Amino acid sequence: MSSVIEKDIVVIGAGLTGLTLAFYLKKHNKDVLVIEKSNRTGGVIHTENENGFVYETGPNTGVVGNPEVAELFEDLEGLCTFEGADPSAKRRLIWKGNKWHAIPSGLISAIGTPLFTLKDKFRVLGEPFRKPGTNPEETLTDFVKRRLGVSFLNYAVDPFISGVYAGNTDYLIPKYALPKLYALEQNYGSFIRGSMQKAKEKKNDPRLQKATKEVFSAKGGLGKLIDALTQKVGNENILLNAKNTSVSPEKAGFKITTTLNGESVEINAKKVVTTAGAYALPAVLPFLEKAEKEPFEALKYASVVQAIVGFKSWKGMSLKAFGGLVPSRENKKILGALFTSSFFVQRAPEGGTVISVFMGGTRRPEIYEMSDPEIHSLLETQAKEMLEIPDFKPDLLKIFRYKHAIPQYGLDSKQRFETINKLQEKYPGLYLAGNIRDGIGMADRIKQARTLAEELAK
Ligand SMILES: Cc1cc2nc3c(=O)[nH]c(=O)nc-3n(C[C@H](O)[C@H](O)[C@H](O)COP(=O)(O)OP(=O)(O)OC[C@H]3O[C@@H](n4cnc5c(N)ncnc54)[C@H](O)[C@@H]3O)c2cc1C
Repeated sequence: MSSVIEKDIVVIGAGLTGLTLAFYLKKHNKDVLVIEKSNRTGGVIHTENENGFVYETGPNTGVVGNPEVAELFEDLEGLCTFEGADPSAKRRLIWKGNKWHAIPSGLISAIGTPLFTLKDKFRVLGEPFRKPGTNPEETLTDFVKRRLGVSFLNYAVDPFISGVYAGNTDYLIPKYALPKLYALEQNYGSFIRGSMQKAKEKKNDPRLQKATKEVFSAKGGLGKLIDALTQKVGNENILLNAKNTSVSPEKAGFKITTTLNGESVEINAKKVVTTAGAYALPAVLPFLEKAEKEPFEALKYASVVQAIVGFKSWKGMSLKAFGGLVPSRENKKILGALFTSSFFVQRAPEGGTVISVFMGGTRRPEIYEMSDPEIHSLLETQAKEMLEIPDFKPDLLKIFRYKHAIPQYGLDSKQRFETINKLQEKYPGLYLAGNIRDGIGMADRIKQARTLAEELAK
């Protein structure tokens, strides 16, 4: 044992959750150390610059779904700049039959759209008068069928879930996976009435008005947000390449051991926060009993393959939209595509384009196992048909695989959340954070980190 470090708080994982948490803890003058196993900060967030293309290897866009997102950019002013998507990104496409259709944006387009049946269009008018559900464990499939109808399930919610969760509506439970939507029904009796009421409440609260639902990145890519957070936390407070990290509870706080450059390092901390995925927790917290580990071992993840496809000169269909999503019943090999350079500036050379294509998910896990040439040929077939390009000769083609991309908030979530609460009570000073609870999107991660920082700073 070569050295012992004393800290107030240790954060395990330097992804968006860990960095945001450490940033706000530092703002509260806490002595914090972040321990990260890989050789860089950011976790799944990473931006690359190559031959005039700026692309994300992980998430591309977030949504300003809560005030904490806007406030994070305010707090990082001067180090990174918020970038909202071009208004054309309001146009979102869904594949049906053999072409893209825009999701209706108003009454006239809603009446005319071929995405939903006439019966369901009329049925929506009755949504405010439909009784709320009584089963908190109802699947998303049943929830949507009950309130909106089958065609809304197939051509709105199913593709939306592919885009957000890379998941399956039969598996996800709205109470855990879409808690805001679930609460609209439970608290206001209906999505439509609830949304109207929420909009009224927002009008009277300037802080809530910061939650604009705008699509965001940072100027130059999300990597700039990570750079700014890393700078604020300070390299001296981040241990990179820290292997075999494990925590053990002590009389007063915790002992954390990790290996840096082959040498064992010991850290004593009053509090420890984990932000790593569920799959990492049994090794990080070896003192957990078998029953306490089970909910983490049981958490199902969607694996995702993301291909970045760049063209210096674009000859295909018009990409003036956010992107397109593919309903599972259309039996295509891709989940969807984001037309990133159409709505964020300077992501591709003038006249060119860069597109992120998502594949795999829980419905097509076999795609994660495909080789690069297989994915290339899959992309070629789909791009020619769906993006109307005569031949598939991209100037940039990169493939990124994520085995544990998105945790699926299914029926087992209740037990996982209960176990987290019990463990936090049993071991005061231990906090289990990250996307194993409180939501999977970047806005959820920022909100959780800020809330936790305020709790820990008390
Ligand atoms: C392909 C993809 C696309 C996505 N698209 C979107 C999107 O469009 N919009 C959106 O809002 N969200 C999106 N998300 C989700 C969003 O990116 C994540 O919720 C968020 O970035 C997760 O941040 P995190 O810090 O909680 O986890 P991570 O980014 O996973 O960070 C966890 C960190 O912990 C480290 N770690 C793990 N184990 C250990 C250990 N034993 N010791 C030390 N360190 C450890 C990891 O190396 C990592 O750096 C996407 C995710 C993926 C994978």
